[in-house]
Amino acid sequence: EAKVAGKNRVVVFDADQDRALRGHSATVESLRQALVGNEFVLHYQPKVHMGSGQVVGVEALIRWRHPQRGLLAPGQFLPAVDDHPVECEIGEWVIRSALAQLAAWTDAGLSLSVSVNISARHLQQLDFIEHVAQALQRHPQLHPNQLVLEVLETSALEDMVGVSRTMAEGARRGLRFSLDDFGTGYSSLTYLRRLPVAELKIDQSFVRDMLDDPDDLSILHGVIGLADAFHREVVAEGVESEEHGAVLLQLGCTLGQGYGIARPMPADQLLPWVQHWEPPAAWRHQALLRRE
Ligand code: C2E
Ligand code: MG
Ligand code: MG
Ligand code: MG
Repeated sequence: EAKVAGKNRVVVFDADQDRALRGHSATVESLRQALVGNEFVLHYQPKVHMGSGQVVGVEALIRWRHPQRGLLAPGQFLPAVDDHPVECEIGEWVIRSALAQLAAWTDAGLSLSVSVNISARHLQQLDFIEHVAQALQRHPQLHPNQLVLEVLETSALEDMVGVSRTMAEGARRGLRFSLDDFGTGYSSLTYLRRLPVAELKIDQSFVRDMLDDPDDLSILHGVIGLADAFHREVVAEGVESEEHGAVLLQLGCTLGQGYGIARPMPADQLLPWVQHWEPPAAWRHQALLRRE
């Protein structure tokens, strides 16, 4: 079990390795080649209903199987194509691959949604929604609401008018949107009202520190109340322990994602994981208490 998890873990560099790497950091051209050479892979991290243990969805997270450097995390190569057309080509590959995988899971009897991270540049393409709709049409067994498009709260704030227009068009076609790393962009209530997002995804920094930092706990409390008031779903990222989940459930946040539930894993490990995973008993009790 630990071995399997270890294999999926992306490479973490120490300072020496990091210095050595700077000499050959990712370039646009190397990423274009990686796309052609089929070197990208998606890992999937479960998003669960912490009280019942139901797995409601998965988030697709890109990795690069680099022929020399091993499995690289997105933070080690995506910055090289930030705001470059190749970023959109990679984004299209991610959407196509995630939908093909979701269709296979659907055929296997799983009922899931897939969340995909969308870069600001990709979202700004005029035909973005049209492309997504076309990608969905290839899989008649999928409903558009099984695709969740995660947009960073900070990207949405950069271009409120464009993003809200794109989201409105997507929502009309049944797609769902999520504001990722929510809380880091300081959206005002007015902005939130204008964005047709189905979900707020609380940034993991607040969750990580909530057990020690009363301010972060207050922020969580506020975001959960906000989501409630606006009838949006709320998901906590960074649920690293049983205690994190228990406190979140106490605050009324039922959806969670994090290392304490599962690390991102290759697609073929998801089905067995879903069949075996059970939430800690304390989470079930917490959920029951709140219902009374
Ligand atoms: P994100 O969308 O906020 O995804 C969550 C990140 O936190 C992932 O890192 C995930 O592996 C990690 N994580 C999940 N649970 C925990 C936890 O309990 N503790 C901690 N410490 N970390 C946790 P990853 O895979 O390295 O991705 C980093 C970021 O890269 C993502 O943040 C997302 O913004 C971006 N990204 C990933 N895949 C894609 C993609 O296909 N396209 C685009 N445009 N961006 C992507
Ligand atoms: Mg995300
Ligand atoms: Mg996030
Ligand atoms: Mg993030």
